[in-house]
Amino acid sequence: MADYSVVVIGSGPVGLSVAFELATRGVHVAVLEASSVGSGAARRNAGWVVPIMAAPVPSPGVVGQALRWMFKPSSPLRVAPDLDPGHVAFMFGMLRASSPRRFQQGLAAISALAGGTLAMFDGYSARGVDFELHRDGVLLAFTSHEEYEAHIGEYADAASAAGLAAPGLLSATGVRELEPGLSEAVIAGILCPDQMHLNPDSYIEALRRALLALGVPVIESRPVLGVDATAGGVRLSTDAGTISADQVVVAAGVGSASIASSVGERIPLRFGKGYGYDLATPAVPVRRAVYLTEARVAVTPLDRGMRLSGTMEFGGDPGRVDGRRAAGIIASSQRYLGRDLTSKPLPWAGLRPMTPDGLPIIGRIARAPEVIMATGHAMLGVTLAPRTGRLVADIVEGKPLATELAPFSVERFRRGNRR
Ligand SMILES: Cc1cc2nc3c(=O)[nH]c(=O)nc-3n(C[C@H](O)[C@H](O)[C@H](O)COP(=O)(O)OP(=O)(O)OC[C@H]3O[C@@H](n4cnc5c(N)ncnc54)[C@H](O)[C@@H]3O)c2cc1C
Repeated sequence: MADYSVVVIGSGPVGLSVAFELATRGVHVAVLEASSVGSGAARRNAGWVVPIMAAPVPSPGVVGQALRWMFKPSSPLRVAPDLDPGHVAFMFGMLRASSPRRFQQGLAAISALAGGTLAMFDGYSARGVDFELHRDGVLLAFTSHEEYEAHIGEYADAASAAGLAAPGLLSATGVRELEPGLSEAVIAGILCPDQMHLNPDSYIEALRRALLALGVPVIESRPVLGVDATAGGVRLSTDAGTISADQVVVAAGVGSASIASSVGERIPLRFGKGYGYDLATPAVPVRRAVYLTEARVAVTPLDRGMRLSGTMEFGGDPGRVDGRRAAGIIASSQRYLGRDLTSKPLPWAGLRPMTPDGLPIIGRIARAPEVIMATGHAMLGVTLAPRTGRLVADIVEGKPLATELAPFSVERFRRGNRR
């Protein structure tokens, strides 16, 4: 008999949500974590729950924009001039996925996966998962009329397609009535009233507590070195011996590709690095989550202070925190917040698990069906985690699925299957 029915690899929002859904259904599950709980991008993000922002990263014009910004040290988007074949192939894959048709298909697929996530976050407390959750909506702030006008249709369409509350259009006065802390440079806003944000640390700790209460072992400092899939089960090798399970869920963020390769599946997963700052300012200048649109910076007000985060960097050294690039976040935010943010602490970096088509990878590996992938959630891992958890639990149990899985299939990257 196997040690566990299911082992989940990785304790980010995705892995913990999968384990939580399985445990509440009575499945004998354990979580293995290479480092400490939430040590990937789980605690290093803006904490926004934003199904209205379901657009995939590859979009018409995005690769051209990245190339134009290639040598600008503080730009919010950067593609490192890296000749690694995996990096080059990934960027070409992104370019192929950036057509209007592929973008619309990706948007529809992610919107379907995000559907119902607001209700799931709302319902967590009743299920024993208590954390800092804010329900004040998200405000997009604009300093240019051009950008404002370009975004109005996009958000109205996204809301109506996903059954979300219609965004409100705000004049400069309207914006400042809502958020007096924003400067005169802000000329318009779009309010998405039903979106939420959370405190990432508090969310991850709440899921961990809930798992412990359900008797789920969450084993830290236990990197999985490889998976050996045998008919009807898996053996996971770790530096402390082998663990057996009937099925394994790979939710290891950017570490997922090497685990998939141990069963012979190559997935083109790369990191997209983001940076952030935590300012323990006693007077947080905004009441709700605000997106500084032209600067591409997310402002997250938390009970303990304010988080600023942004940037997307492909390629280069994953472990390097580039101070100049991170400082671009502070420099570009000051204009909107109308205050000097120079007393800044050290920046942090987080690695988003990215795929070339911008869609997550969710489903069984055909050549090793006991191995289920749940990764590649890019900029939306927090938002999509609860629905992914439920979907993966249904896959584990062989239940009918509420969401069409084909757009997220593991095998879509194989040469003959590419669209
Ligand atoms: C700056 C920034 C801002 C963001 N803002 C938002 C936001 O506002 N809203 C949103 O929805 N998303 C946001 N994201 C994205 C979100 O953080 C990620 O999509 C999410 O964390 C991915 O979750 P995950 O569980 O797949 O991976 P991770 O959170 O990275 O967790 C993976 C875990 O697996 C572990 N692991 C890796 N390899 C192994 C191994 N071999 N054995 C065992 N364990 C292993 C890692 O240590 C890690 O703990 C943001 C990301 C960044 C960087």
